[in-house]
Amino acid sequence: AKEDGRNTYCFYRKEMTSTVFEYMLLENALREALKKKEFYLLYQPQIEMLSHRCLGIEALLRWHHPELGVVSPAQFIPIAEQSGLIQEIGTWVLTTACRQAKIWLEQKLDFGRIAVNVAAPQIQHGDFIQVVENVLKTTGLPAAYLELELTEGLLMKQTEQNIKQLEKLQGMGIKLTIDDFGIGYSSLNYLKRLPIDKLKIDQSFIRDLPHDTNDTAISQAVIALGYALNLQIIAEGVENEEQAAFLKEKGCHQAQGYFFSQPIPPQQVSALFA
Ligand code: C2E
Ligand code: CA
Ligand code: CA
Ligand code: CA
Repeated sequence: AKEDGRNTYCFYRKEMTSTVFEYMLLENALREALKKKEFYLLYQPQIEMLSHRCLGIEALLRWHHPELGVVSPAQFIPIAEQSGLIQEIGTWVLTTACRQAKIWLEQKLDFGRIAVNVAAPQIQHGDFIQVVENVLKTTGLPAAYLELELTEGLLMKQTEQNIKQLEKLQGMGIKLTIDDFGIGYSSLNYLKRLPIDKLKIDQSFIRDLPHDTNDTAISQAVIALGYALNLQIIAEGVENEEQAAFLKEKGCHQAQGYFFSQPIPPQQVSALFA
């Protein structure tokens, strides 16, 4: 009977598409990745356009698998979300980023805030506030140095519970940013109801600036929206001087991208301030 079971499994496996198979391989490997210490964070500065000061540093997750090499978060985060592993991984990211920020604070680096990406299931999971409180307590990082980057998908789900959680986080002194603004949903209604401090213009609108007339219109509209609603505006994926100059001229507050710095390991961040 055991033999049969195995044959059946093999039969189905042959029928599986490579995507499904790849997904299962990655999910299994992800399960081990935390234990095996295969994750690390890179950090990318967020620059204030007028002063050229660093107002924040975004933590970006990396996974170095011994055989697969460096796997992109765009590939494995969705798998982590679907499998539930995002809870554990997300807490690891938050802890590691806050611990690093605390070190920079002790080194008297004027880095602004540490910005951490948060996936929707992390917040929908009931004890997110508790997780954040614990992390701040164990790392000793004051809440005012933490910023959370949330995606529009999460914000569209305006349950009382979600709004309360976000209000509580903001009440603790944590800043809240909407990441990838503009690509998710067209309704702007949620902006007025939610406690939000900053909008991040998605890099797809930045790439072809200042030549693409749709993208110039969209980025200017988002900047105007930010001014009207009293929100900070940051552009991501800024790769060249032309893009930076355009955004600065249009009043965009902050920018982030290869033009200023690639995502870099923590030791190199310290060197930026030296
Ligand atoms: P994101 O939050 O929108 O991050 C911006 C992405 O653009 C990052 O890709 C960054 O490395 C890349 N980038 C930065 N500057 C430039 C530039 O000038 N040009 C271009 N073309 N790209 C630039 P990365 O690190 O591969 O991350 C991809 C996505 O994975 C992130 O998009 C975010 O949604 C997700 N992610 C990364 N780390 C975490 C994490 O710790 N937790 C969660 N939940 N998601 C994460
Ligand atoms: Ca982000
Ligand atoms: Ca983004
Ligand atoms: Ca993006």
